[in-house]
Amino acid sequence: MMNDMPLETERMDSCHPYGVPTESAICGQQELHSLLNVLRPYGTGRIPVGVMDIKQADSSPAFTPTIIVGPCSVESEVQILATARALAQIPEVKLLRGGIWKPRTRPDAFEGRGEQGLVWLREAKSETGLPTATEVATPEHVELALKYDVDALWIGARTVVNPFSVQQLADALKGVDIPVFIKNPVSPDLNLWLGAFERFQKAGVKQLAAIHRGFSYYKETPYRNFPMWEIPIELTQRLNVPLITDVSHICGNRELLQATAQKALDLACDGLMIECHINPKEALTDAKQQITPEELKALLANLTFRTKRTGNVERDLAGLRGEIDDIDSELLQLLARRMEVSAQIGEYKRSHNVTVVQMDRWKKILDDHMATGIEMGLSPELINKVFDAVHQASIERQSRIMEEGTH
Ligand code: PEP
Ligand code: MN
Repeated sequence: MMNDMPLETERMDSCHPYGVPTESAICGQQELHSLLNVLRPYGTGRIPVGVMDIKQADSSPAFTPTIIVGPCSVESEVQILATARALAQIPEVKLLRGGIWKPRTRPDAFEGRGEQGLVWLREAKSETGLPTATEVATPEHVELALKYDVDALWIGARTVVNPFSVQQLADALKGVDIPVFIKNPVSPDLNLWLGAFERFQKAGVKQLAAIHRGFSYYKETPYRNFPMWEIPIELTQRLNVPLITDVSHICGNRELLQATAQKALDLACDGLMIECHINPKEALTDAKQQITPEELKALLANLTFRTKRTGNVERDLAGLRGEIDDIDSELLQLLARRMEVSAQIGEYKRSHNVTVVQMDRWKKILDDHMATGIEMGLSPELINKVFDAVHQASIERQSRIMEEGTH
């Protein structure tokens, strides 16, 4: 069984709170299992979920990730049936998602159809044969979802931040054999995510998987939720659970979906969650990030499915590369912000008739950066090169602003 391995939280303190382990030998990696291929094996008819627990051989050349697709919200009978019918024609789709109770940031927004939506979701399942999944946030949701034969449940990012809620859900699922996907909490807190797994495991829930949906970040990024790939990767190094990447909630828009899905596959995720709507423009929630079933087909056709690589070295490298990508993206944003502030200073200098270059000030800044950077272990050459380039670009920008002012 996938969760026979103990959760290794006692090792947690010896690791970096998030990011890569400080000592990978201590935070050793466990093999991944791929529970989710039970949902709808390729090339066969559909079978009920949760009846098998297949571990896919790591060397399997035919590794195929589990694709979970469906609308953000179940909105109407027509909408969910039309979406499900179209998705059932796509062989890669294994599980139909549909939100029934929607956690909204502001009151008075559409909060889901509730029990009525479950009736429609069950109808979609019986017509298409696609097993279904929905989000549960309270024990009442669990009871209703089970009553209407939902096949798999997920715990949303806003719920996972609250240990009281997670415990209530774990208690409600005691003795119930249903796959439960645990999304990462909105905050980049690996321990909180691990804690949720522990609560479900203690309640005897056997079929657990993680969903990575990105994290709130203190400033704007190109993503709706910043991926911080190293966090889910570290989770899978600590826990023996499959990892699904919810690219829709990471991206928040259609444009980034393809590249983000490819990146998730390259980082050896076990599956993808993608929001799909028969008419995204009219969607009542998350309209900007949903795609049509046709667009989904194109997205899947353009993905390169790689043979799964799960050796220690590959996973550790994947985590480190993910961290580098995040850092580079932050560097770019910081540089852009720096140039913006520099331009504002240029405007100010122009209106107050001050020279662009003030060498004394720059020399002092560089000396300070040099001292701090060396203390951080950076070489003087690197500090010089980077700040020289940044300073040059800044001067050029300000000079252009001055010139524009004199014309
Ligand atoms: C969702 O999947 O529709 C959802 C609300 O996701 P999250 O909990 O990741 O925000
Ligand atoms: Mn959504």
